[in-house]
Parts: sequence; structure tokens; C-alpha cells
Amino acid sequence: MAHMKPTRRSWAEPFKIKVVEPLTTTTRQYRAKAIKAAGYNTFLLRSEDVYIDLLTDSGTNAMSDYQWAGMMLGDEAYAGSKNFYNLETNMRKYYGYQFLVPTHQGRGAEHIISQIMIKPGDFIPGNMYFTTTREHQERAGGTFVDVIIDAAHDPESVYPFKGNVHLQKLEELIRKVGAKRIPYISVAATVNMAGGQPISMENMREVRRLANKHGIKVILDATRAVENAYFIKIREKGYARKSVAAILKELCSYTDGATMSGKKDLLVNIGGFLAVNDEKLYDEARNMVVVFEGLHTYGGLAGRDMEAMARGMEEMVKEDYLRSRIGQVEYLGQKLLDWGIPIVQPIGGHAVFLDAKKILKHIPQDKFPAQTLAAEIYIDSGVRTMERGIVSAGRDSKTGAHRHPKLELVRVTIPRRVYTQAHMDVTAESILSVYEDRKRIKGLNMVYEPKHLRFFQARFDKL
Ligand SMILES: *Cc1c(COP(=O)(O)O)cnc(C)c1O
Repeated sequence: MAHMKPTRRSWAEPFKIKVVEPLTTTTRQYRAKAIKAAGYNTFLLRSEDVYIDLLTDSGTNAMSDYQWAGMMLGDEAYAGSKNFYNLETNMRKYYGYQFLVPTHQGRGAEHIISQIMIKPGDFIPGNMYFTTTREHQERAGGTFVDVIIDAAHDPESVYPFKGNVHLQKLEELIRKVGAKRIPYISVAATVNMAGGQPISMENMREVRRLANKHGIKVILDATRAVENAYFIKIREKGYARKSVAAILKELCSYTDGATMSGKKDLLVNIGGFLAVNDEKLYDEARNMVVVFEGLHTYGGLAGRDMEAMARGMEEMVKEDYLRSRIGQVEYLGQKLLDWGIPIVQPIGGHAVFLDAKKILKHIPQDKFPAQTLAAEIYIDSGVRTMERGIVSAGRDSKTGAHRHPKLELVRVTIPRRVYTQAHMDVTAESILSVYEDRKRIKGLNMVYEPKHLRFFQARFDKL
């Protein structure tokens, strides 16, 4: 299968390499020791001990020469930096919102919007939770309610827009608690926790219609909105001939504001922002950012970081870039599918998700199959991935028992513009090698469990 004749012409990365960062290779014996010392948790490994780092796509992007040149043009004034105005101009141009408040990263923006819009006792419906987004909504006294379509929870459903909002569920919630108790609908583009699955333009339009009917605002998590726009272009009727930039702007036009982690779509290593259209909200946000992040023209960022984000916006909408970005994830996923390795379908925008429940059928969920699989892949090749299953799901706050999520996955996340197709080949072959050897693999015991977001710091022992 690996040597099949190609069924389509290849694409190549639309950039060439100007600066390189050496990777370290280690022996299997060394890695077995390193992962043991890290308590079989890939979050506790030292980056130096990792060969190909597919832990996350957050802040791990490679910047272009154009962005690096912009870094030298950083205007590090405390107030009124010219880089702020460049960022504001480009945010208006590409996202279309009126007002910009920079923040140190996405969660800074989530904090501010949650504090100014949510009152204790409110409900915030959304298309599947995201860890930091929900945390800030709940800290402000709100309750998150998942209104994503059911297909999102089914790894085998190949529905092209598994990020869609279930409109009946949303309307039922509005009827049940009343529009006054819903400050905004929290809509994510390419839903991270569902496996990088997009929302359709049609669904977004319907959400807007419903929100208008009840006088509710819509706030977009725009973290991977441009990748979502690309999926709309290639999957949704009527969008094939529109530019991704136009699609992104249309998507945002159905919302009243956005929180943004620049560490993803914007091709930088740090940064984020909050954007709104309502001047009163802007006024409050601008006032609050001073307390928590910094003055409203830098929001916790250096001038050079704002410049890199502004320039990243110009690059993110380029379609040859997006084709290679999404194409690289698809290339890895398709290879695994060709070899019969179970993954979440359709292949997502930023990662391939391995179905650990299926791959390690013989390991019960209480023995952490996904955690085990991530550790085994690291031992095999030095490729670092992460668990998205029972460890990430945590414990039920009432009973104290493990939550048993339907999805028990290993996330293989691809940083933007960092690795080549050859790195994807090495990764795929390592996963195949572990897969072929799966019957020999035993599960893990948890020997240390932190209270909050346990997946980051939990430690395990081999059975
Ligand atoms: C990363 C992320 C965030 C939070 O952004 P940070 O920059 O990490 O604070 C919010 N939403 C989604 C979907 C994300 O992936």
C-alpha cells in the first residue's frame, strides 16, 4: 500500500527553509528511561528529549522572514505603539470587527469578555467546551451548556461539519432559561475538542438568525477561524470560488465579537486579542485590560509581538499556505487510514486523532489506553503526542469517580510551517510500528493525581 501509484499530483510546502534548528535523536533505551522519569506523561518530558514535537499547535509556529523583519520594527512605546495601529488595521481588514483590545494570549481575552458579559446564574451555550473558555465562563458565575450536534461525539461519523450547533438544542435552552439569562452564544470555529471539526456558514447564519430573534449576542472563538474558512471553501456549496479572506470576513460578520489566540492561526509564538463591535462593551473591555494585561494599546504584548501578529494575518489567508497546512494534516491522517489504523474522521484541521479505545481494545479505560499509547509512540521514535481521553476528562465533581468520555484519543498535533512531509512519514511509520505491536502493550496505573486539569501533571507507573 505504501508504494501505490499516486492518484493525484503532489503539492509541496509553499516556502523554503532559511534557518534551521537541529533536532536531537536518542536511543530507544534513553527514551524508555526519559518517559519513566516523566511519569509516562508526555507533558512532563523535556523538549530536548523530543525528536518530533506534535504535542500542540499552540505557539509552536514558524514565523516567516516577513514576520521576523517586522519584529525589528517593534515600537516599544508604553502608549500608542505604531504596531498596535498596524494590528488594528489588519484585524479590521481580515476579521471586520470595529474595536480591538490586544491580550497576552487567548485566555486573557476570554477572561475579559466573561467578566464584562456574564452575571452569576447565567447560561452560556456553545458548540462543545474548550478548557480555558469554559473555565473563565464558570469563574464569572456562568454555566456552560453544550449544544453541539451529536455527530461531534462519534469518531466514525464522516459528516463534513461536525462543529455545527444543534439549533433545536439551542432553542430549547433559550425557552427553558429565558433569553435574559443568556448573555451570548459562544461559537467556536474548527472545534478543537471535537477533533478540529469545522462549522458551516449555513449553520452560522442560522445561529445568527436565532440570536437576533431573541436579542442574544454571539461571540466567536476565532482561534482557528481561518482554517474553518478554508474547510468552508472546499466543502460547502457555493463557496468554492470565494477567497478564504472573504469567507473569513463573512463568518465573522454573523457574530458580535471574538476572542482570539494568536498562537494558532496567526503564525506567531505568543499573543491574542479581543474584538467587539459594540462601543459600550469596548469601553468596558478597554478599561478592564489595564488591570489584568496592560494598557489598551499593548495588552501584555511587546510592540514587536503585535507586529508579528499583524503580519501573520496577511499570511494566514494565503490559499497555497492553507492548502499545505490542512494538506499536511490530511497527508498524515490518510497514511494511517490506508494502513487500517483507526483515527477520528473526517481528518481535522490541526491534528490527527488516534482512536486509542480501538487500537488498545484489550486495555480497559481505567488503565488509560490513550495515555499508554502516547507513551509507547514516544518510546518507539521520540515523537511527542498527547492524551485526550479519561485523564483529560477528570473526575465527576459529585461522585469523585473518573468521568468515562466516549472518546479515548491520542492527539497528533501539527505545528504550522515547522515540519516537512518526511517528518510526517517518520511519525506515521512509528505509529504503525506501535500499532503492529499493540497486543504486547499493557496499561498504566495513576500514581499521582493533581486536583485541577490533571492531564498536565499526573504521573503513572507501568502495569
Ligand atoms: C488555545 C485555545 C484557546 C486559548 O488560547 P491561549 O492562547 O492558549 O490562551 C482558546 N480556544 C481554543 C479553541 C484554543 O485552541
